[in-house]
Amino acid sequence: MIRGSLSGGLVLTSLLLLGCKTAGNDGIALVGATLIDGTGGPALTNSVVLVRRGRIESVGERSGFQLPRNTREVDVAGRWIIPGLIDAHAHLAPSLPWARPRYLAWGVTTLRDVHGGFGSLSVLRNRPVGAGPDGPRIYAAGAMIDGLPTTYPDAIGVNGENDARRAVDRLVTAGTDLIKVYTRIDAPLLRAIVDEAKAFNLGVTGHLGLTDALAAAKAGIASIEHMSGVPEAASKSPSSLIAAHYRGFYPGWTAFQRSWAALDSADLTRVAQRLAEAKVIVIPTLVLHETLSRLSDPGLMRDPALQDVPEQQLREWDVPGMIERAGWTEVDFEAFRRSRPMQDLFLRAFAGAGGRIAAGTDASNQMLVPGYSEHREMELLVRAGLTPREALRAATRNAAVLLGVDSLGLVAPGKVADLLVLSRDPLSDIRNTRAIHAVMARGHLLDADSIRAAW
Ligand SMILES: [Zn+2]
Repeated sequence: MIRGSLSGGLVLTSLLLLGCKTAGNDGIALVGATLIDGTGGPALTNSVVLVRRGRIESVGERSGFQLPRNTREVDVAGRWIIPGLIDAHAHLAPSLPWARPRYLAWGVTTLRDVHGGFGSLSVLRNRPVGAGPDGPRIYAAGAMIDGLPTTYPDAIGVNGENDARRAVDRLVTAGTDLIKVYTRIDAPLLRAIVDEAKAFNLGVTGHLGLTDALAAAKAGIASIEHMSGVPEAASKSPSSLIAAHYRGFYPGWTAFQRSWAALDSADLTRVAQRLAEAKVIVIPTLVLHETLSRLSDPGLMRDPALQDVPEQQLREWDVPGMIERAGWTEVDFEAFRRSRPMQDLFLRAFAGAGGRIAAGTDASNQMLVPGYSEHREMELLVRAGLTPREALRAATRNAAVLLGVDSLGLVAPGKVADLLVLSRDPLSDIRNTRAIHAVMARGHLLDADSIRAAW
């Protein structure tokens, strides 16, 4: 038992190194669990996962297994192993450092950070390594590229196609992993950005506004955040939506969010099929849509998950202030709630047409708890019509494909040793992903309760 080997009052470093190197052992054999490896194939009962120096060395059946030398055996019989989770839409930079251990304790071992300002690239990268993982691995966009005037002061504003290409070059020089465009990028700017990014083998993702989802697919966008641009593509009269995006961010977002309820399901299905054919990956962030639709509900503040969030952060989130800035009323929230079933319908059609969905959350924006939100996202994906296995894939393998990283998202030989040991079956109920017995990050076996006890 991992927990049982702990005594009180340990310092964080030794907690994190727990089980890593004892008596010259450099390997760990996790023996007896049911393995859900992330490929989508059948689960392997009574499995052995052998890990050494941060990598998965082998995966197989327990029968006939011989414990190799220099390897510690950990009994995980009666438990389940899944790949480490990937939050495909995160904003870590503003919440450094408090969010890092939260992600890890909730089994999120990798993040795709989709905007934290230009300086965030070096902030996120220059973390001390060597003492064991104290946070998730990070892939980051740095600053978003937006039209003028930019929605956020720390985005890169571009005016014209040459400017747009230069913005991509600047981000590439700074070491970005992906290019994110924002709501004021129109189709000609998007085409220039995609073309320039292609020269560096980088995918472009969009929170769309002025460009609808099908126009973005035609321009060669790799992925779409929040299902943005979908109503604009499905609507028979998108001009009022586009006009709202021109007026500003909040008018555009509010109109977008309200518009789903009035869309025709056949039109939404057609857009879903075309996006699937174009191999555009969708990061729906259902947990964001769901949270915004309930933002005025006083019960939201009593969510036990908020215990993970420091007081100071809760004050900074300033939910009443956000509602005031956005100008949202109860009529808007009701409309947001009416839109939710249509968003789910779109996702079902997209998944049904073979479209790839990646799980992302928008944490740590207002009321989106780092780490925990990823589990809520999987739950909402299942509620939208995905199977638990598909929801797990969205949070693991599909997010790795989105990142373009072959070594993540699977429990298989040669892959990075990021995985979770669960005490309940996630395939019988997706909410069981929260029953985390242990987290393995980069080959280090960590105890979630101990990470919690240390923050
Ligand atoms: Zn975001």
